[in-house]
Amino acid sequence: MARYTGPVCRLCRREGMKLYLKGERCNGPKCPIVQQRPARNFPPGAHGQRRSRRPSEYGLQLREKQKVRRYYGVLETQFRKHYGEAVRRGGVTGDNLLQILESRLDNVVFRMGFADSRRQARQLVRHGHFTVNGRKTNIPSFMVRANDVVAVRPESRKRDYFKDYSEVLNTRTAPDWLSVDNANLSGRVLNLPARDQIDVPLFNDSLIVEHYSR
Ligand code: SF4
Repeated sequence: MARYTGPVCRLCRREGMKLYLKGERCNGPKCPIVQQRPARNFPPGAHGQRRSRRPSEYGLQLREKQKVRRYYGVLETQFRKHYGEAVRRGGVTGDNLLQILESRLDNVVFRMGFADSRRQARQLVRHGHFTVNGRKTNIPSFMVRANDVVAVRPESRKRDYFKDYSEVLNTRTAPDWLSVDNANLSGRVLNLPARDQIDVPLFNDSLIVEHYSR
């Protein structure tokens, strides 16, 4: 299963915005997007500090698509599949796409507070630490449905990472479409999120639709 293994702050610098890919560090002063000295809030690479030209229409659409894709930590092939599914569902494609991305198991594990970032959540899922409705599930792109119960596997609760994890969960707040049982290290999907329940940076999803409709 392929995944991006390069430097992640570089992705935020390329998009010119915080994509929150590193957990706690993203809220600190060392984030390159806010760091003052040396300032690094410019695109990476040898030509990153050149005066940028006005982007083309295609360029704008591409950047918007890349932002969302990188925010959720999904590679192009899978993102395109999610887009295809969003079109098939009918209705507003941009809203469907965000709902599909939010329904991924790695995202749900992150949103429930079991990981600092989606990247870490993905690794925890891949290593088989979670069950969905009592069955071990190690596929990060697994789509959860309403009323599914996601829990830390009983065998994994003895591990150092999950020992006393309920105290960590007490400091976190899950979105209102999820309910988390901190003491039992589990959570339930109350409903799939509507667009206004999805807390994401300002994305213009209509540009993504235009990008794939070319
Ligand atoms: Fe790096 Fe996080 Fe800042 Fe992005 S938001 S540049 S991942 S520290």
